[in-house]
Amino acid sequence: MGEGTEQMLAAVYLGDGVLAVQEVDLPTVGAQDVLVEISHCGVCGTDLHLVLEHIARPGSVLGHEWAGTIAGLGADVTDWAVGDRVVCGPVRGCGACRPCRSGRPSVCVQRPPVDHLGFRGAFARYVRAEADRLLRVPDTLPLRVAALTEPVAIAIHAVTLSGVTPADRVLITGAGPVGMLILAVLHAQGVHDVVVSEPAAARRVRALEVGAAAVVVPDDLPAAPMGRPVAEPFSVVFECSGHASACERALDQLDFAGTFVFVGTGHHQPRVNHNRVIILELTLIGAYNYDPAGWQPALDLLASGALPVDRLIHADDVTLDGLGDALHRLAAGEIPAKAMVRPVVSPAASATGS
Ligand SMILES: [Zn+2]
Ligand SMILES: [Zn+2]
Repeated sequence: MGEGTEQMLAAVYLGDGVLAVQEVDLPTVGAQDVLVEISHCGVCGTDLHLVLEHIARPGSVLGHEWAGTIAGLGADVTDWAVGDRVVCGPVRGCGACRPCRSGRPSVCVQRPPVDHLGFRGAFARYVRAEADRLLRVPDTLPLRVAALTEPVAIAIHAVTLSGVTPADRVLITGAGPVGMLILAVLHAQGVHDVVVSEPAAARRVRALEVGAAAVVVPDDLPAAPMGRPVAEPFSVVFECSGHASACERALDQLDFAGTFVFVGTGHHQPRVNHNRVIILELTLIGAYNYDPAGWQPALDLLASGALPVDRLIHADDVTLDGLGDALHRLAAGEIPAKAMVRPVVSPAASATGS
């Protein structure tokens, strides 16, 4: 298994923002690893940044939000079998460092740095995975939906850190895939008074379908009077756009003792009105990874059927040869939900041999 001579199709990053479908070697599988045949792999905002901003290393294969079926076992793997349906959870914390001891293993100081440059990901027919990180996908949950586990875990984490309750009035700025998942998780937790601010019309429509109480365009959000809340303030804000101007305006919308959660990353840094943070006693936090329990709550939530997955996943799956185009459409806001890649090529592309 995994001999270097065996080949598979993958979407390979060539450099200069360009991807191409190529035959590459099957991943090499160590004694404690498994080989997983990919069913679906979601396109993450990270993938967009890595390709469109030319950060990825030429020759790398991206894609980390995958679900699949075990196709081969390393010599020491005893508790998994070929055919098991799995997703791959996070690296465990060391248990000894200060973040681990305070219940935050996702920011363990011993965590290996994210190796975006040498990444060998799941926009491919197979990936290698460490057996002790696997989670079993419930029989009732399609693998295509299970591929949402990682982004759902991220959304759950942002909601957990915010301390939001059903009594809160919530604003989400940015209705991309992450904003939509946070909206869906809030809804599933009984938090219904949620307004979504989003410039793209298709994404505002989608936000209403996923459960927003109201949608607005960013210009609808008022500037705040000095030292006082706006007329209709929010107690919790999830900033999911990553745009500096949206961050600044979102911070203006908070009520006394409100909580601001940074979720969307971006090139340009927002200016934070510290006087406002002081006078209104605001809390500003960042959310990036997962709750201490990791991904199992996300798998459970997906399996429960409580999330509107048909609204959260784009209806048209992306083929390997269609990935480059999909990245541009996602960046332009033209795809209002999570795009799922199937590791196949379209009939047209395979007919021309590309
Ligand atoms: Zn991701
Ligand atoms: Zn640790």
